[in-house]
Amino acid sequence: MVSLNDAVSELPGVGPKRAQALKSLEIENVNDLLTYFPFRYEDLQAKDPAELTDQAKVTLKGTVAAAPVISRFGRRKTRLNFRLLLDEHTIIPVTFFNQPWLKDKLEVGNELAVYGRFDAKRQSLAGMKIIASADGGMGSIYPANKEVRQGTIQKLVESAYEAYEPVIVDLIPEPLREQYRLLHRRDMIHDMHFPTGDAAAQAARRTAKFEEFYLFETRLQIVKQQDHTLHGQAFKYDLTKLKAFIAALPYELTTAQKRVVNEICFDLKRPVHMNRLLQGDVGSGKTVVAAIAMYAAITAGAQAALMAPTEILAEQHANNLAKLFADFPVNVALLTGATKPAARKTLLPQIANGTVNLIVGTHALIQPEVTYHHLGLAVVDEQHRFGVNQRQALREKGQQPDVLAMTATPIPRTLAITAYGEMDVSVINELPAGRQPIKTSWIRSNQVDATLRQVKAELSSGSQAYVVTPLIEESEAVDMKNAEAIYARFKEEFEPTYKVGLLHGRMKNDEKNAVMDAFKANEFQVLVATTVIEVGVDVPNATVMLIYDADHFGLAQLHQLRGRVGRGKKASACILIADPKNELAVERMTTMTSTNDGFVLSQKDLELRGPGDILGKKQSGVPDFKVGDPVADLNILSAAQQAAKETVASPNWADKDANLALAAFLSTTAHQNTTMD
Ligand code: ADP
Ligand code: MG
Repeated sequence: MVSLNDAVSELPGVGPKRAQALKSLEIENVNDLLTYFPFRYEDLQAKDPAELTDQAKVTLKGTVAAAPVISRFGRRKTRLNFRLLLDEHTIIPVTFFNQPWLKDKLEVGNELAVYGRFDAKRQSLAGMKIIASADGGMGSIYPANKEVRQGTIQKLVESAYEAYEPVIVDLIPEPLREQYRLLHRRDMIHDMHFPTGDAAAQAARRTAKFEEFYLFETRLQIVKQQDHTLHGQAFKYDLTKLKAFIAALPYELTTAQKRVVNEICFDLKRPVHMNRLLQGDVGSGKTVVAAIAMYAAITAGAQAALMAPTEILAEQHANNLAKLFADFPVNVALLTGATKPAARKTLLPQIANGTVNLIVGTHALIQPEVTYHHLGLAVVDEQHRFGVNQRQALREKGQQPDVLAMTATPIPRTLAITAYGEMDVSVINELPAGRQPIKTSWIRSNQVDATLRQVKAELSSGSQAYVVTPLIEESEAVDMKNAEAIYARFKEEFEPTYKVGLLHGRMKNDEKNAVMDAFKANEFQVLVATTVIEVGVDVPNATVMLIYDADHFGLAQLHQLRGRVGRGKKASACILIADPKNELAVERMTTMTSTNDGFVLSQKDLELRGPGDILGKKQSGVPDFKVGDPVADLNILSAAQQAAKETVASPNWADKDANLALAAFLSTTAHQNTTMD
């Protein structure tokens, strides 16, 4: 019996070579082919020339009135002219370039339709193709490539639809299909490829999008359920010890921090696998929440790991955690790419035998050589810097540790539903008491001098300042030169009253750390830096930030940078220096000065740039949907997610009649889409 899972090589006219070529379009089986949808349609409906507008692409129907004449020009170029009689009164000259072979189809008296571009002034048509059956309709245009041509796809889709139409069944369960007023799958596929008009094509597209999102979301929901039911470790943590640790903190936790600590601890205690995303704006105090969670796992006899995106940040975390745990039985160790071989050699066995129970590091933590004694909890900081693969690798260390991913980039709905759809979410929606909002202003580069006076005033009250240097995407070397030039300028301007330090990406890690430590110790008051300081750097005494060429940065990045100030009790300022060259850049600057809300900013960023740009194409975790656009079609996406939740929520859902086709389809296509790399 035929099935949509049949390889395309089962189709007539598809040999091994063509099958290989189709693979380049990600078409491997019949279902792939039938859901390889046109991206636009040509209107092939025959038109009356009286209604035509200049340069419109149209189909004209008529009879060949005079035999074609071929003329040559240039090297090997040809022009084929003939006259098409539309009705008794109208004759239109038609020209085809470089298709001399068409001559054979153009005998006088032949009836045909010609698709082409209409020239109103000359009342002529530049022919593009000849349509034999003159009944018009809509011509489907597919994304094609060098190996597989447009015409090939059209023919294959036609023959596949004809042969497989009887086995196309509805995947979306009947009640949902009715609730969301969707087409039957068979009709949807038909009308996507062979619509009778615009309305039919649009209705089909809506169903196609819904189906695509629905299948994806159903898979996510299944993964999420499995996470919740499979092999989780139940941590019997020591509540008394945990309370003692919290009581010893130099501050009281905010209400929001307490709430998320409870959510996390509840997950730790349950015998289910935790896969939780901790969202909180910059400065909301995620680190201490992570520390409490890690301590809980440790009091239950497990190890905890914290993975940070940069060595600087890893080192800072290690230092902070060592301080936090100074009076508690926790052995903190740091493992990064910069760890010296000798140190590494002592450390690895200690990780393997459990002497070290809190390991902080970069992606060095997930190298195969690193084995853990009993990794219970893995925390990923600023997780948007990591690919899904790296998160996955950490998860696969040891016995499926619970995972807590932290992000300061609030997740717009689109991403929450796609890239993070399989995770539970905790939100810290409150800043520690006493924080003053950061005042952000935007100046032109010719106003810098006045600003420097403002910076000096801040410094004279004992504060410190960051100066962020321009971002040159192409070259770290140029970044460094910029940083050095600005460093020289600030030295001249501020020293000897205030000392100026420099930090850039080309420095060795030891040097970077020495600079950070010195700045933290207030050994110098102005730090000129490239974006290496973007993530996580914590110096509460710094209250001013100057950002050069701010229009070169994205909103999310500016917000991260700005989050380096406003960490103490003093009021802070962020000054954007920018001479934006276009509307979008102006909009970014005014958005920055008008809100401190990371959520508003990331939504705006998503609208302005799209998900791939925000998180990095490969890393966004947003799959490449074929018809749906997860940003533009957010409403359909949300509805599909809701529908998928309903489907999977009922016990034994896969055995219900209405869901049989869906379950069968998902089980035979398990490899698709949710493998997010
Ligand atoms: P982020 O969420 O950006 O990672 P951090 O964890 O670095 O924020 O915390 C920012 C600063 O706030 C740190 O200096 C931290 O010690 C401090 N902090 C965290 N929680 C509180 C709290 N409840 N009250 C006061 N300060 C806090
Ligand atoms: Mg942080």
